[in-house]
Amino acid sequence: MEEKERVARILDTLEEHFPDARLLLEFNNPFELLVATILAAQAPDERVNQVTRTLFQRFPTPQALARASLSEIEEVIKSLPYYRQKARFLKESSSILVEKFQGEVPPDLSELTSLPGVGRKTASIVLANAFNIPAIAVDTHVARVSQRLGLASSSSPSKIEKDLASIIPPERWIRAAHLLGFLGRTTCLARKPRCPECPVREWCPSADSL
Ligand code: SF4
Repeated sequence: MEEKERVARILDTLEEHFPDARLLLEFNNPFELLVATILAAQAPDERVNQVTRTLFQRFPTPQALARASLSEIEEVIKSLPYYRQKARFLKESSSILVEKFQGEVPPDLSELTSLPGVGRKTASIVLANAFNIPAIAVDTHVARVSQRLGLASSSSPSKIEKDLASIIPPERWIRAAHLLGFLGRTTCLARKPRCPECPVREWCPSADSL
């Protein structure tokens, strides 16, 4: 079977199994998603959501977060790993949004990745989920599942993104990241994948071999 056809069948099947696959971070606008995604590094989404509910009440805009002191931000986000570094990222990124981008989050990959604490994965999450711009956010789950399914040949996230982009049409990129991510969270677990109950096992070269 041709590779594009195989991935299309995998995505169709995952769409049937995980119709609710989506980003689990809570947000109401691009700024909130940018902040939540910066905070989500090495942290569970649920804990990030608890923190951002308080954070956005106290600092609802880039202007408010840029004006806040580091210790005020740290106090709110201190339950998250690397909270000191993340507080600095939030304050610096907010200041740049205010000074360079009229307080708006730019819908552009290179402008987003110019912000402190914003790498390609974070930028892709924001583009895809806040602006509906085709992008494939390769997180740890998407990376693992893509390799096991033989959709990507490298362990490097940027190479995985390129491999996926070459076999998935752009109109499916956003859903593909959500679907592969959900498969990784629920079934293709890092330590012990649940191959017998996997909906896409018939197209997986790693099935039952891990
Ligand atoms: S068959 Fe197993 S290794 Fe392949 S995607 Fe499913 S859970 Fe992962």
